[in-house]
Amino acid sequence: MSDLRACKGCSFLTMENNCPKCGSATSREWQGYVVVVDAAKSDIAKRLGISTNGKYALKVR
Ligand SMILES: [Zn+2]
Repeated sequence: MSDLRACKGCSFLTMENNCPKCGSATSREWQGYVVVVDAAKSDIAKRLGISTNGKYALKVR
């Protein structure tokens, strides 16, 4: 997990310096994560404003 970075825009977890989803810069300073497998039915996804499946950080600094 140490190489993963979190997007400052949408919290998507990626190895890239820029988010492949929204293009925002990513940060290594993040805490906790959630795996969204069914964004349409997930309460957590709704709360975080997530509309596509994937791994997302709960907190990005
Ligand atoms: Zn993003």
